[in-house]
Amino acid sequence: MIIYKEAAALKLKLIKYRETDKTVGFVPTMGALHKGHIHLIKESIKKDDLTICSIFVNPTQFNDPKDFEKYPANISNDILLLIKTGCDILFFPSVSEMYPDGIERSTYYNLGQLEQLLEGKYRPGHFQGVCQVVHKLLDIIKPDHLYLGQKDYQQCLVIKKLIQLINLPVAVNVVETVREDSGLAMSSRNQRLNDRQRKVATDIYKMLVYMKTNYTALSFPDLQKYVSEYLLKNGFDKIDYITIADADTLLPVPDLKKSQNLVALIAVFIGDVRLIDNMIITH
Ligand code: AMP
Repeated sequence: MIIYKEAAALKLKLIKYRETDKTVGFVPTMGALHKGHIHLIKESIKKDDLTICSIFVNPTQFNDPKDFEKYPANISNDILLLIKTGCDILFFPSVSEMYPDGIERSTYYNLGQLEQLLEGKYRPGHFQGVCQVVHKLLDIIKPDHLYLGQKDYQQCLVIKKLIQLINLPVAVNVVETVREDSGLAMSSRNQRLNDRQRKVATDIYKMLVYMKTNYTALSFPDLQKYVSEYLLKNGFDKIDYITIADADTLLPVPDLKKSQNLVALIAVFIGDVRLIDNMIITH
């Protein structure tokens, strides 16, 4: 695996590569890699001739500075995992490499209602930061395929919207969420949970399954109330949202029973660790 820290050197390599008709797959990450990330890398390796992973903890997408400071990092382990998986290139830039003119945002991305809902509502500015960094990464790498995890459901919709806005010819592949045996979605943030909290966290999956099983039997307010009370009784400290929404727009659905295309989404805190997860509901 070749490691690039400078965009210019990577671009040069890719110009030469593009003279062939081979395809490039790209997996952007913030590091502290786990099996979920590795699954994305493997999907790219299966489909593309060249697989590039980036590791960059993007300061502009953290609305909470403490969350940024505490974000786990383990670059030597990440490099070993990527080599073992067969990743071709790691792009591992510094903050000044990505933001030579400082981290102020100069572009506003019109994401419409997506930015006011759910993650957008609870993490103001987060998606503008995500778009800022993904736009830069796509400009550098210009991949044929971009691999994203369903785990960050709203982020997938936001990045699809970004690609429309900037009009880039990149195909998005959304890859299913990799879970531990307990059902807990793999996440870099899980590293910040102690054993007790990790056990508590498995109830997120349990409640998503509950929502999927019961959304036609109970009214939506009753379902929300049940799940919220269950989580608060069982070790969660704060709930940002528990909802079922239209899977394409994330807008509320007037009658869940009449909709074919739904997703259940949860965002909760255990201590100061914020966890999100989701589950597609179709019938
Ligand atoms: P992150 O490093 O958390 O920014 O995640 C980088 C990419 O990996 C994003 O596209 C995530 O959605 C994806 N990802 C994170 N966790 C998982 C998981 N458990 N299963 C599959 N993909 C994941």
